[in-house]
Amino acid sequence: VKKIAVLTSGGDSQGMNAAIRAVVRTALYNGIEVYGVQRGYQGLINQDIRPMDIRSVGDIIQRGGTILQSARCQEFRTAEGQQKGAEILRAHGIDGLIVIGGDGSYQGANKLSKLGIKTMGLPGTIDNDISFTDYTIGFDTAVSVVVDAVNKLRDTMSSHERSSVVEVMGRHCGDIALYAGLASGAESILVPEVAFSIDEVAQRMKENFECGKRHSIVIVAEGVGRGEDVAQGIIERCPTVEPRVTVLGHIQRGGAPTAVDRILASRLGDFAVRKLMEGESGKGCGIIKGELVATDIDLVVNTKKEFNMGLYDLATRLSQ
Ligand code: ATP
Repeated sequence: VKKIAVLTSGGDSQGMNAAIRAVVRTALYNGIEVYGVQRGYQGLINQDIRPMDIRSVGDIIQRGGTILQSARCQEFRTAEGQQKGAEILRAHGIDGLIVIGGDGSYQGANKLSKLGIKTMGLPGTIDNDISFTDYTIGFDTAVSVVVDAVNKLRDTMSSHERSSVVEVMGRHCGDIALYAGLASGAESILVPEVAFSIDEVAQRMKENFECGKRHSIVIVAEGVGRGEDVAQGIIERCPTVEPRVTVLGHIQRGGAPTAVDRILASRLGDFAVRKLMEGESGKGCGIIKGELVATDIDLVVNTKKEFNMGLYDLATRLSQ
């Protein structure tokens, strides 16, 4: 490859900027020209493409969001849109593309690969819902945001002997709830991967208060439903518990990335460029047991991410 481009697509995540920086600087270091595509696949179709130099990615490693901005693009879901994208890249002399995003963005990259553009996907999403990587870029920061919020809730809950239901993001994946729940000592963690009964959750909260606990936290992954409905279910069964609901929402997607996310993004960005240089294409990059890996996107998007039951059981045992 002689000229490559990079874009961010789908929901943004902390650490995307660190990944862009790594892509740009690794490419330039290896004598490859690099372009930034603004606003994901929409920007590609609109030819919103500009050259990137060393300085263009200065002072961004610590910033949340993405300097290239992100978008969802209906047109790119169509064969014509994909064809147009491939032609525009070719017209600019660009023979490689690195796409930072989630599952949907990966599928777009796969389509371009089949049209002759060399592509690599980087897992940029807070949800940690991408297979063939233990962690996605942004997940660690999102978990830290939730843990920080729960710490604050604990202060006021203890003062008033109250309980809290905290709804967190993750789409269909319960990982943010699981990791944040374990790290914040939540009493119950409700995730779409594990069946639960509101009766038991409510009973547990009631018993906890009766035996002297001064606060009680239930973390609800958005994949199981609304925190408000969970709280209502608890109140109907145990009116004395009276949980307050906090929906953290997009706060989880913002803020400075943690060191863990910056390092992961830097390693993956560098790895993706090197894979393109080796002539690979249509792969999703990830980290498994500390090792960087590139897996066929077809396999990545058609494999459901395995849920860490061991960690879930641990969180349950420790929250007695
Ligand atoms: P996140 O889940 O973190 O929001 P995502 O990448 O899964 O990220 P999507 O909205 O699913 O977010 O996808 C982003 C963009 O990728 C879409 O707007 C569309 O342009 C493109 N895309 C999604 N699915 C496909 C597909 N099957 N074929 C081609 N392009 C696709």
